[in-house]
Amino acid sequence: MTEETSRPAAPVEGEQHEFSAEVGRLLDLVVHALYSEREIFLRELVANAADASDKRRFEALTDAAKTLPPDASIRIHPDKEARLLTISDSGAGMSKEELAKNLGTIARSGTRAFGEKLNAAKPEDRPSLIGQFGVGFYAAFMVADRVDVVSRQPGSEEAWRWSSDGKGAYTLSPATREAPGTDIILHVKADADEFLDAWRLRSIVRKWADHVSWPIVLREGEE
Ligand code: ADP
Ligand code: MG
Repeated sequence: MTEETSRPAAPVEGEQHEFSAEVGRLLDLVVHALYSEREIFLRELVANAADASDKRRFEALTDAAKTLPPDASIRIHPDKEARLLTISDSGAGMSKEELAKNLGTIARSGTRAFGEKLNAAKPEDRPSLIGQFGVGFYAAFMVADRVDVVSRQPGSEEAWRWSSDGKGAYTLSPATREAPGTDIILHVKADADEFLDAWRLRSIVRKWADHVSWPIVLREGEE
């Protein structure tokens, strides 16, 4: 055994990176403090998909190559058999560096402020806090034991996959994606079956994502 192979193997092939310590703490808080309000993960992921679509539309004003497809939407696709829930957009995407920065560190004031408030709040007050704050991407780990993010930016041929079990590290590896945009692929936890149910997903979207200005399409059935 060489020096290199004495290190623990990466769970998924690819470059392995550690989360910042702050991300680790926030992940713990979000996953454990908000158990009774797990459904808001979908609000957060749909909001991010809408933000990314808005960003691309803005960038296209000065760069026609970034123009959105005319049927741009946010797609929600539950696959019961594979136990995967995928949220897809045709938005601005993330480069390899952006995946590492945006999903591996806490640079966003909203998420940091939420973490601080949540930490300070009494346990019984925590659920009501989530209505006031964006919990952010990490809410996905309330319902998923692994999250893959596959992203490609408009104007680029290359795509990257970010993958993590939310336990301290993530991997980055080259990927392919037919068109620019992002897929958030949730490997749904054993106790979170309800989030593979189209009827349940539709009711969450109605409750939390009614104001979103992009069409939300719930795709049922096989790929
Ligand atoms: P916030 O939305 O408050 O910035 P999040 O934790 O929800 O915080 O998301 C972190 C960052 O990750 C976003 O600011 C954005 O840069 C990036 N991101 C998340 N989802 C997507 C997506 N679907 N497409 C492009 N970028 C995304
Ligand atoms: Mg967000």
